[in-house]
Amino acid sequence: MMPLFSGPCPVCGEKELLADPVLWPDLINAWQLSEDETAYINRQQGLHCKSCHNNLRAMGLSTAILREIGFYGTLKQFCESFSDIRILEINTAGNLTSFFKSLPSHKLIEYPQFDMLNLDIESESFDLVIHSDTLEHVPNPERALSECRRVLRKNGKCIFTVPIIVDRMTRSRVGLAPSYHGQSGVPADDQVVCSEFGADIWQTVLKAGFCSCEIFSFEYPAALVLIARK
Ligand SMILES: [Zn+2]
Repeated sequence: MMPLFSGPCPVCGEKELLADPVLWPDLINAWQLSEDETAYINRQQGLHCKSCHNNLRAMGLSTAILREIGFYGTLKQFCESFSDIRILEINTAGNLTSFFKSLPSHKLIEYPQFDMLNLDIESESFDLVIHSDTLEHVPNPERALSECRRVLRKNGKCIFTVPIIVDRMTRSRVGLAPSYHGQSGVPADDQVVCSEFGADIWQTVLKAGFCSCEIFSFEYPAALVLIARK
């Protein structure tokens, strides 16, 4: 058994973590989650840093990014290091945006001004493309990833998270009752779930044209990060 993550926060260095359950009964039922799966998704989305409020998935994403860059320190320290790395962030990735903003070549684009299926961005213009829990809301995730690939320079990487239920295969929610992320009782159109990802997520990455797909485990199975290399 891998030990559970207990801090400090890889984003800001804070030692104290807090836990809030975030799933509600309607979402658990629509997603058909077992007790175990409910527990690890609650950890992924609800365990968070007391200081910067980033949750376990955002902490995992930060750690994967720092590891790929080869930086030993917190994300905050990296973002204050005057690196000229070109990062494209698609929709705000947790509470990471306020840190990324310190980087001179960081660009944030958001739905609906930017359509992930057809990015209004020049090809081969970024070193990293980052997104967090966005792909499951996009009608064609393979097309969205191929757009991420297009805007990456050679050897660039798309580093992202989606909620993954590790013991099942991906299923489309097309034709099923609408399921929403976000908050209980607040259905928002951009929060409707199109795909529930499972153990075959790597296929979507490779079909989009990436040459490799690494699954980085920050904490298994609650915090997995996909690293797709162009
Ligand atoms: Zn923090």
